Formats: sequence, C-alpha cells, structure tokens
Amino acid sequence: MKRNVIILTLGAAIFVTGCNATPTNSPAAQNDLTSTNTMKFPLQRTEEEWRKLLTPEQYHVLREAGTERAFTGKYWDTKTPGEYRCAACGEILFKSADKFDSHCGWPSFSEVAALGKVIERKDTSYGMIRTEVLCGNCGSHLGHVFDDGPGPKGLRYCINSASIDLGDTNLPSFKPSEKK
Ligand SMILES: [Zn+2]
Repeated sequence: MKRNVIILTLGAAIFVTGCNATPTNSPAAQNDLTSTNTMKFPLQRTEEEWRKLLTPEQYHVLREAGTERAFTGKYWDTKTPGEYRCAACGEILFKSADKFDSHCGWPSFSEVAALGKVIERKDTSYGMIRTEVLCGNCGSHLGHVFDDGPGPKGLRYCINSASIDLGDTNLPSFKPSEKK
C-alpha cells in the first residue's frame, strides 16, 4: 500500500514538472509571420517618447524585447480577476479568465482578449526559433507564444509582467484623451 502511494506521488511530480520555457515549434507556423519592422501600428511614438513614458524596466522589455527573470514579475502568480492592458498603450490584451498557472514563472494565457489584439513575429534570437508576441496597437514586445498550452487551441502566451497592467497602477503612458 505504501509503495503505491510513493509511485503515485512520483507520477504526480513528473506530471507537474512537465512545464518549462523550452521553445517548441512555432504554433503560428501556419500563419504568415511577416516582419513587423515595416509594419505601421495604429499608435506611433518615437523611441524618445517611449523612454520618457515608461520606466527603465518597462522600456527594456517593451521596446527592446527584454525578458524579465522568471518568478520575479508582479503577475506570474496573480489570480485577481480583471483585464490585462498593454503597459505601453493601455490596449486590453488578455483576460484573467484565460490566465492559467503554467509553473513557468511568467503570466501565461491560453487566449488573447480578442482577435488582432496581438501580432506575432518570428524570433530567431539566442539560437532559438520562437514566435514573439507584440501589442497590435503600439507594436511593443509582450513575450512569446508556445504550442504547449492547456486550452482547446493548445496555446501558451508567455508574457512579461512588465508588459501588462491589471489596472492596479496608473499607466504612465496611457493618455485617455487620445481618441481612436
Ligand atoms: Zn500597446
């Protein structure tokens, strides 16, 4: 009997450690991942303007495609209901209903709030082939999307906490007066 318990425990441990940030084949390989370098995003700002509006950490992640260290961001373990906005422009990108615990150390979502809210781009940095995720409104870097998610689409949007805002801070860059 005791042996069965040990075997079960071992099995569970192997199961929960199955998640990691190892890049897999692009989930969006079927999409045409055109370069966003030439893309015009609805919200245009100069890098100088972004630098003034964002904190140094936000600027590094959002505008220089930086990655915060795992388990250090403010939202990796957050379960508070709400909408996650782009920390650069305020656009609603993800919903808490689609957030799941990936044990990866970054906030993870199985879905985007709505179609077109994020743009995907092929990322070959650091000798890996990954799919980068950008804000569809301002083009800021959010994180990456992998094809090992739990939802029906099998996607895991692995997003930096620095790139999103759950409405618990005053977005320095979001000017409500800006009309669509
Ligand atoms: Zn944005």
